[in-house]
Order: sequence, then C-alpha cells, then structure tokens
Amino acid sequence: MGDTDAPRTFVIIGNGVAGTTAAETLRKGDATARIILIGDEPHPLYNRVALPKVLKGITAPERTFIKTLAWHTDNNVELLLNTTVVRIDPERQLVETDTHGAFTYHRLLVATGGTPNLLNVDGARGTKGIYHFQTLDDTTTILDRIRKSKHAIVTGGSFIAYELTEGFRHHGVRTTWMIRGTRFLHRILDAEGGAFVDRLAKAVGVETVYEDEITSVNAGADGEISSVNCRSGAIIDCDLLGAGLGLRMRIECLRDTGVKVNRGIVTNEFLETSVPNIYAAGDVAEFFDVSIGTHNQMGTWNNAGSHGKTAGANMLGARQEYREVPYYTSTMFDSQMAAIGIMPESVPTMEALGRMNEERGVYRRLFFHEGRLAGAALIGDIRIRRQLMDMIRSQRQVSNAEREQFLTV
Ligand SMILES: Cc1cc2nc3c(=O)[nH]c(=O)nc-3n(C[C@H](O)[C@H](O)[C@H](O)COP(=O)(O)OP(=O)(O)OC[C@H]3O[C@@H](n4cnc5c(N)ncnc54)[C@H](O)[C@@H]3O)c2cc1C
Repeated sequence: MGDTDAPRTFVIIGNGVAGTTAAETLRKGDATARIILIGDEPHPLYNRVALPKVLKGITAPERTFIKTLAWHTDNNVELLLNTTVVRIDPERQLVETDTHGAFTYHRLLVATGGTPNLLNVDGARGTKGIYHFQTLDDTTTILDRIRKSKHAIVTGGSFIAYELTEGFRHHGVRTTWMIRGTRFLHRILDAEGGAFVDRLAKAVGVETVYEDEITSVNAGADGEISSVNCRSGAIIDCDLLGAGLGLRMRIECLRDTGVKVNRGIVTNEFLETSVPNIYAAGDVAEFFDVSIGTHNQMGTWNNAGSHGKTAGANMLGARQEYREVPYYTSTMFDSQMAAIGIMPESVPTMEALGRMNEERGVYRRLFFHEGRLAGAALIGDIRIRRQLMDMIRSQRQVSNAEREQFLTV
C-alpha cells in the first residue's frame, strides 16, 4: 500500500509518552489523517516518573494523568485501551489486535516500552506479596500492601529497586535492600559512589546487603510471603517483596515480521526499522545514536518523548535525525541524583573519572568517549548538570583543565 491522496492511516502501538507524543505530532502535521493509538493498559497517558511519589503517598494517582480521554476525542485520535496488538503483517501493512480486530496502516510506530523481569526463583510464582513496579495500577496495589506491611525486602540494583526501597521505608516499613553486585548501579558508579549511596541508605534506616541474592521464597498456609532464602544461607523474614530486576522489551508483536531486533527494536537515526513504513520509539528503540556513532538504548522519560516527536515528524515525511542529551533525575534518599547522556551500559569502553567530596556530600563521575564528554552521574548537588549537558551537546574535545573544573566539587 503506498501513499495516495486519500487520508493516510497512522497506527501507533503503545500509548506511553513516546506513542502519545507521536500521535500529537502527527495530528499537528496532518489534520485529516486517521490516527489509531493502541495500548494494553486501561489508562490514557499518565506520568510514570511521578509513580514513586504516588508510592510514597505524596501524589494522588489521579494527579499523574497527562492526557484525558477527551483530549483524544478532541484531536480525533482513536484511542483503544485494554487492547493488545498480537501480530503485525508487514506485507499487508496490517496490525491485528486481541479485542478490536485488525487495522491497515500506511505508517506504523511501535512504542511498546518494556516490562519488568520477574523474580524467577522457587516459590515466587503464585506467592502473594511479591511486586514489580512499572504501571499506575502496580503502584496503587503496592501502596495498599505497604500499609499492611512490617518488613520489606527489595531485590535489585536498579533505579526501580531504589524507588521501591525509598517508597517502603518512607512509610516506616523496615526495609532490607539486597543487591547481587557490590553496589547500587555498579556499571555507572565506582566503589566510592556506591559507598556514598550506601551511607545515604543507612542514614535513613535502610538495611543494605550486597553480593547476595534470593534463591527461593517461602509462603505461609495463606499463600502470603513469609521469608526468603538467600545464596549466602541467610533466611530473612518478610511480608513484602519488591523486585527491581530490569526490563524485558515488549517486542513480541514483531515476531515473524523481519523487523531487526536485538535487545530492543533496531532503528537508524531516523527511527526507521529495517522494514519499510515501520518505526520504533521510546524505551523499546535501539536507535543509531549519531552522538556516539553506534546504537544506543535509553530508559528515560524525556528521551521517549523526544523520540515520539522525531518519529511522528518522520512518519509525516521529514528526515529528522534524533539528537538529544537524555537525563534522569531522582531523589537518592535524603539527597538527589542525576544521570546524564550516555551511560557505560551502552558504551562500556568509555573513559571514566570520578570524584567524591565527603565534606559537602557531593559525588561526580564523568564519562568520555573519544575525548568528548558523553555522560555523567551526579549525586548531591546536581546543579552542574545544565553545564555538562551543554558540553555533551558541543561534541568537542574536553581539555584537562576543563575536566578538572567539572570534577571539582
Ligand atoms: C516507577 C518508574 C519511575 C521512573 N522514573 C523516571 C525518572 O525519574 N526519570 C526518567 O527519565 N525516567 C523514569 N522512568 C522511566 C520512564 O518512565 C520511561 O523511560 C518512559 O515512560 C518510557 O516511555 P515509552 O513510551 O517508551 O514506554 P512505556 O511508558 O513503557 O509505554 C509503552 C506502553 O505500550 C504498552 N504495550 C506494550 N506492548 C503492547 C502491545 N503489544 N499492544 C498494546 N500495547 C502495548 C505498554 O503496556 C505501555 O503502556 C521511570 C519508570 C518507572 C516505571
């Protein structure tokens, strides 16, 4: 099917920030196109970044909504909720859903994000009191449970594991944070940064355990979690378990399509996949990042939104390269943290320089790619992030004096 004078049909899978921003961009650029936005959650776009505050009970769930159902109607965007795309047929340019039949498309965007890796140990399946943290509905369910809990365990060394730990302890629940590696974010922070986070955790009463992991889960006769067994031989009693074990990408609907996938969906710098008229955006896109000359994948809100804009523009016929410096900021117990630009998970060969100022409680770690600043991790005073983002954008070689200046805290 090619472009004709008849209105075009754009189909978007996933109504997160990437998919919804793409729908908005498409509507701005084409007043008559048919736009179908399909999502398997029951809600229009809400702010995932606000979920940790919902978990703490600081923000009401309804305050997280960014788009109303009426916005979709007003903008003539057909929103299908509780609907899963189960198959794509690139030959016929068709997507099949589980509950709303099939739709043909001129251009298709896959913005399906990821889903949490499940805690896959003996006894975990079917045991009550084990939670993963990804959606608004997860958050309200966990919040109900926290209010009845006394001792929580969190497993994982990711940002999500941190958010669960912080959420639990915020409610006064005794919290043990178990990390399989030697420290939090072990690829991003060095030993000094990891030790700093450990001090921040302990200062608010969190019990930390490193180089250990849960090997099985025990439940009482009521099916509720009662304790976990650890590789070290320890048995820890608990009535709540949070798992932050990373994401698996939602690429299952691309099976047998010929679209090139790796961990995510591989795209070029225009967010086009290997199959004509199919684009990918957001967390799921493993895009060619012109700033580092290689493929890259991000898990940040602003990257996903910017991807949505770029993909939408290109689906309309533009040739925009994706060029943004992503950043992620969050609390870090009673301090704060920022991760900017490219992280060593994407480019493990980057040169890294770290510095800790104990007195001021400030930590910085900078990542250089071929002599240029590519990324940074900051804890404590993170105000320098704008300056660092400008330097990353400039793509110029950083002198030793400038390196020293950025590291001086
Ligand atoms: C608790 C939490 C806190 C976070 N905090 C921060 C933060 O502080 N800063 C930051 O930058 N980022 C943060 N993030 C990450 C950020 O939220 C994500 O990077 C961003 O939301 C990704 O957007 P997306 O549109 O790519 O994917 P998603 O938001 O994952 O949306 C994809 C949607 O597609 C749906 N879907 C998947 N497959 C199908 C299918 N086959 N059919 C129909 N629908 C489908 C999914 O259910 C989902 O609703 C946080 C994430 C979480 C979970």
